[in-house]
Amino acid sequence: MANIILFGPPGSGKGTQAKMLAEKYGLLHISTGDMFRYELSNDTPLGKKAKEYMNKGALVPDEITISMLKNKVRKHQEAKGFILDGFPRTVPQAEALGVLSKEIDMDLDALIALRVEKEEIVKRLLERGKTSGRKDDQDESIILDRIRVYTEETQPVFKYYNEKGKAYNVDGMGGIEEVFGRLCAVVEEL
Ligand code: AMP
Repeated sequence: MANIILFGPPGSGKGTQAKMLAEKYGLLHISTGDMFRYELSNDTPLGKKAKEYMNKGALVPDEITISMLKNKVRKHQEAKGFILDGFPRTVPQAEALGVLSKEIDMDLDALIALRVEKEEIVKRLLERGKTSGRKDDQDESIILDRIRVYTEETQPVFKYYNEKGKAYNVDGMGGIEEVFGRLCAVVEEL
């Protein structure tokens, strides 16, 4: 049983790598970004609430995000383990995850942060925006806002887990397989 947070700025490869890790280790991949996009494309009440924040590159309020994540995890308690991609993104989200972990007796093994240079992030996201259909990937000023939000609101989450001795850094520069190899090496040491 492993429960892992895959952490890093937008465009660091979290989604791609989380999918590969989930497959290799039999974990359930939970991406809050994917969940919000699903709600948005189905025009649900939750999607309507999240839309304005997502389109401008802001975070959806904690209250909404935490309750969505809790429901998902509670529904899948049979999972061998979880790989969280895009959650927690604020310290209150990390604290809420701590409470949930106790409630369902789930140990959080590690937060693994992908490190990627800012110029590379902008390049990757603009490239992805050509085919992803994601509005937030198509406009450089929204991308820069997302990076700013990451630095200001999300980066403290690393410190939060680092103080518990659970945070790891992985170089996210380079090819997909190369980065995957580095991640697997960390996971296998847990
Ligand atoms: P992502 O696919 O992880 O880049 O997420 C896309 C967008 O969904 C983000 O820019 C936020 O607007 C929203 N989002 C995803 N995860 C979270 C989260 N944990 N907290 C708040 N907003 C989130």
